This record gives sequence, C-alpha cells and structure tokens, in this order.
Amino acid sequence: MIARRPGAGFTIITNQEIYPDHYLMELRREGAGFDASPGQFVNVLAAGGVTDPLLRVPLGIHRIRKNGIALFYKVVGKATGILSRKRKGDPLDILGPLGRGFYPETGEKEEKKINVLVAGGHGAAPLYALAQREREKGKEVAVFLGASTKKHIVLSREFRQLGCRVKTATEDGSAGRKGYVTCLLEDLLKQKNGEFAVYSCGPTPMLARLAELAAEKGIRARVSVDTYMACGTGVCRGCAIMTREGYKLSCTDGPVFYSDEIVWEEKLKGCGE
Ligand SMILES: Cc1cc2nc3c(=O)[nH]c(=O)nc-3n(C[C@H](O)[C@H](O)[C@H](O)COP(=O)(O)OP(=O)(O)OC[C@H]3O[C@@H](n4cnc5c(N)ncnc54)[C@H](O)[C@@H]3O)c2cc1C
Repeated sequence: MIARRPGAGFTIITNQEIYPDHYLMELRREGAGFDASPGQFVNVLAAGGVTDPLLRVPLGIHRIRKNGIALFYKVVGKATGILSRKRKGDPLDILGPLGRGFYPETGEKEEKKINVLVAGGHGAAPLYALAQREREKGKEVAVFLGASTKKHIVLSREFRQLGCRVKTATEDGSAGRKGYVTCLLEDLLKQKNGEFAVYSCGPTPMLARLAELAAEKGIRARVSVDTYMACGTGVCRGCAIMTREGYKLSCTDGPVFYSDEIVWEEKLKGCGE
C-alpha cells in the first residue's frame, strides 16, 4: 500500500487576486488536521497529472486554520500562473508542512520582547501567520512592508485588521518612507531602546542588510530565506546555503535561520550610504 503523503488532498475554497498579481488561495483538508507552525512552507504540485512544470512550487504557509491553510502568492512564471487559474472545488496536491519555522524548536520566544516583522514584497506571506499567532497571544506586533513602488505593497490591510502597527517603505517614495524597508528597521533601532524580536522574509540582499543591522544591536533575527528549491525534503540537496557551520539545506534546516548563522554575500546599502 502506498502511504498517503502528510499534506496531500486539499480542496480549493477560494483563489482570488487580492493585490495586483498576488493571489490568496484558501484550502481545506477534510478529516485530518494540518499541524503547521508559522514560517513553515508547503511544496505545491501546480500541474496535476502532467510533467510541465515538473517541479513543485514552494510557498510559505500564509494562514493556519483548524482544517486548512491559506497561501498568498505572486504570479511570476509558469507554475504560479497555473495556480492562479485554479478554481473553487479543484483539488490540490500539497506536500507539507515542511521545514523549520520562525519559532525555534527550543520553545517559543520570551514574552517581553517587542515583535518587529520586516517583509520585502511577497515575503509578507509567511510573516502573516506569525503576526496572527502573536496577536492571538495578545502581543504587540509592528510590521514593516517594503516594495519598489506603492502598487507593489501587499497585505497592509490584512496586517492592520489583525491589529498590527504597519509602516511602509518604497524605493521610489510613492508610499511611506523613501528607501528600502530595512531603513525602517534602521530608524527604529536608532530611535528606540527596548528588546526587539526581529523576524524577516524577503530577497537575500535585504535579509543580509537586516542581519547587519541586527548584529550591530546584538539581536539574533530570525530570517526566512527564499532559496530556489526542488524536492523540499532534503533529498535533492539543491537548496544548500553557506552558513558558519558549512552548507545547510534551506528546505530542512530552514527556511528560517538565525541571521548570524548565514554567510551573507550581496547586501543592500544602508539608508545614509
Ligand atoms: C521556502 C519558500 C517559500 C516561498 N514562499 C512564497 C510565498 O509564500 N509566496 C510567493 O509568492 N512566493 C514564494 N516563494 C517563491 C516561489 O516559490 C516562486 O516564485 C515560484 O516557485 C516561481 O515558480 P514559477 O514556475 O511560477 O516561476 P518560474 O518560471 O520558476 O520563475 C519566474 C521568475 O521568478 C524567479 N524565481 C523563481 N523562484 C524564485 C525564488 N525561490 N526566489 C527568487 N526568485 C525566484 C525566477 O528567477 C524567474 O525570474 C517561496 C520560495 C521558497 C523557497
């Protein structure tokens, strides 16, 4: 008998474009629960029954519900294009939950820290699940959302509805602070004292700059890396990244790492540079 994969067998409840080129897909799984933690991801088979595209699409778990999950994805190519055309009632083959999330396995973090979530573009997707969990615990959450321009800022409404304090940054200055989203963190760390728990997801140069800022303040941020990956389960070893302890796999050792674990290469400039 073939064992059923842990996450397979979801049904699409909604699949709507809620921001330009960005879709919210709600999925239900009948019967068994889906025990996911914020920051974990799923590997989705976009093309049911055919081999193009061959690989699954890794997507962060955006919302965690009792009998399902939601995904929030940007349409960038073939697989995400196929996903965007799926309809209510369609089945979806999902592998997961996979990887290690934002909460370290040693337990959830200390209570007194101020949560700061820093997102670049669709990096906001998995951070939402974390914000939701922290708000349920009654914790304050500040969210910094960054994009190149105003129309690419996503999920600001949804984070506000959760009761998070939201600030935005755009590279062209069309919304919020002009500059990179890391500038908002730079401003905060300069202006305010306190113990911050920093979480982030976005492009690698952004995470690298955030890691630098965190290190200056002695903060171990938790960052979710967006490395290209194939199997998502550690078998193909295609998503290795360099850490201070040698190569680690983004899919099984991550995608969330401590910011000081990774050997960063290209990074964004600081605000005054
Ligand atoms: C752990 C993890 C979680 C992710 N979570 C989300 C999420 O929640 N929402 C979301 O919108 N996207 C997420 N992504 C990125 C998503 O997997 C890719 O955008 C998707 O695989 C693209 O598939 P495609 O066939 O549509 O496009 P492709 O044809 O494969 O690629 C189209 C374009 O996107 C670029 N691209 C593809 N994959 C990546 C990647 N991993 N990093 C950077 N650029 C890439 C390609 O270079 C190309 O320019 C995540 C990636 C990882 C590794």
